[in-house]
Amino acid sequence: MAKIPTICPFCGCGCGCYLVTDREKVVGVEPNPGNPVNKGMLCAKGWNSYEFIHSPERLTMPLIRKEGELVESTWKEALDLIYSRLSRIRENFGPNSLGFLSSAKVSNEENYLFMKMVRAGFKSNNVDHCARLCNNATVAGLAATFGSGAMTNSIGEFEDADLFLVTGSNTTEQHPLIGTRMINAVEEKGTKLILIEPREIPLSSFAKLHLKQNFGTDVAVYNGIMNIIISEDLYDKQFVETRTEGFEALKSLVSRYTPKVVEQITGIRSSELYRAAVMYAQADKAMIVYAMGITQHITGTDNVKTLANLAMLTGHVGRQSNGVNPLRGQNNVQGACDMGALPGVFSGYQRVNDPAVIEKFQKAWGMDGLDTRPGLTFTGMMEAAHKGDLKALYIMGKNPLMSDPDTAHIEHSLSNLDFLVVQDIFLTETAELADIILPAASFAEKDGTYTNTERRVQLSRKAVSPPGQARADWKIIADLLLRCGLKADYKGPSDIMPEINSLTPSYAGITYARLAKGYGLQWPCPNEDHPGTVFLHRDRFTKGKGSFLPCEFKPASEMTDEEYDFTLTTGRIYYQYHTGTMTRRINILQRESPEAHVEINPEDAKKLGIRNNDMVELESRRGAIQLKAEVTPRVPKKVLFSSFHFREAQVNKLTNPAFDPISEIQELKGCSVKIRRCT
Ligand code: SF4
Repeated sequence: MAKIPTICPFCGCGCGCYLVTDREKVVGVEPNPGNPVNKGMLCAKGWNSYEFIHSPERLTMPLIRKEGELVESTWKEALDLIYSRLSRIRENFGPNSLGFLSSAKVSNEENYLFMKMVRAGFKSNNVDHCARLCNNATVAGLAATFGSGAMTNSIGEFEDADLFLVTGSNTTEQHPLIGTRMINAVEEKGTKLILIEPREIPLSSFAKLHLKQNFGTDVAVYNGIMNIIISEDLYDKQFVETRTEGFEALKSLVSRYTPKVVEQITGIRSSELYRAAVMYAQADKAMIVYAMGITQHITGTDNVKTLANLAMLTGHVGRQSNGVNPLRGQNNVQGACDMGALPGVFSGYQRVNDPAVIEKFQKAWGMDGLDTRPGLTFTGMMEAAHKGDLKALYIMGKNPLMSDPDTAHIEHSLSNLDFLVVQDIFLTETAELADIILPAASFAEKDGTYTNTERRVQLSRKAVSPPGQARADWKIIADLLLRCGLKADYKGPSDIMPEINSLTPSYAGITYARLAKGYGLQWPCPNEDHPGTVFLHRDRFTKGKGSFLPCEFKPASEMTDEEYDFTLTTGRIYYQYHTGTMTRRINILQRESPEAHVEINPEDAKKLGIRNNDMVELESRRGAIQLKAEVTPRVPKKVLFSSFHFREAQVNKLTNPAFDPISEIQELKGCSVKIRRCT
């Protein structure tokens, strides 16, 4: 038996663990007691994260669709065909006819190589990944206000906070180990918790104050809190004067959001709003924590900017246990962003239209002709495919047919392509449509680094060999780079990291030698003597002065009406993960949460004659699904909640593809539906 250090493959906490192996088989998982993220603990998903590795359903051979059937092929035939089809499509229709989706589940090295293949190999900037769906509003909103779109603090700082303001995050279910840290701080240290969230969630019972706002009214809530803080003279004048710009514009805008006005928009009583404002402003160490309940709206970027405004107004940023903390969803979504799997930036958020940056990357990659125009986002790629302008799409480790809103639109877009390549570990719903499927190695079958939500880059080691002919993603991409005529003589991910170090200032000091000795390094880490950065914006914001960017409240894109009279909101549940590709192949998790439910308030259920476990039909303007009802007071009246893990009740058939114009994140958090009991 051996114990191989790795990082949990599920959420953005990035818990450190060991895979326990018996020869070529992973037989268990143990938490790493020294890892500062999880300190020897794991959640149910982490403890069982090894079970899918040896699933008999793993992809083991490259598959090519011939006369409608997927048939086994050699790697050479599959990769030659991919290169020749993509090159021909590019020649005939130009670079905007190609799209590439990278993955928040693969390593930093693999994301970096993928972005290099797209930019240097196919001379396109049409590269994106699932951050478009979760935290791109964070990247846009915090970059505009602070200069850096990442979590400002570290998970360890939760222990010293005096107050948490948690909003749009069901933390104990989505980021269980961070939720545990919060509960420990509340119970053991007396840290106050303000929860601003429409549903009852497990954190509700630990909250001093739980404000339940009407769906999609977050900007009004926080403008109202700032209105009270300014009128009561509770803001941090010194911080505002010395560290920020744009205060007068903020003051003028929020002056219109009096508690009375805010009560009408949000449904939150003035007295409760006042209590929240005073508690937050008067705390010494206050941390804002949010997740997709804030970002997945047509006003996602405005929601983030408004939270950043609040933190700057009160001086709750740039100090230990003070800051704005977006919890990143997937285990390497932070790393995929950092590595430039985005249409407008190279690794380290260096702009594709900056001539000095272009020159640096061209010199390092030994080529010229990099495209200087930002490429298409995932949202833009689906629109282009729908219209027939995007001809080919290469998807690595992403399952948009399950994860993205308005499934019918996604399905039409994917089916409209001339050529679809999917690289994954299982035959996902999306892979079933592909022309070529490439079998990839799982996290347990390769070395690599992953960056968690607190910017900590951690090393994961290979424990076993991939099944059959499956290959590590970096190896597949390196073989395609060679076909593109580029140098790619990497022997492994440890050969790729020096290239990342040399081209990415925030990762310059993060080497394999250093990572192998400890528990990761937090960027920015500009050189090999630098210890990494625990919290951001200590003496100055990344952009110099922090910018107040006031935002007006705008209503959600789809409101209820007589016919579609409920608001459906979606999210993750504790025992499942995302599109279920991995967790639905884990027995214990399946036993605990085997099927989809929709939560409905008891008063609504009574009026509609719906009882617990009755089959119901949900219908939106885009589609309909059937699933079981769970009658519970956790949801307010006229609100329904369901998760998106179950293909047999694919909730994204219903969701709304309307998107935030700045970040192009879609409004997954709310759409109008009707509900009826199935007869
Ligand atoms: Fe894995 Fe997240 Fe659970 Fe940690 S909290 S064990 S990273 S799923």
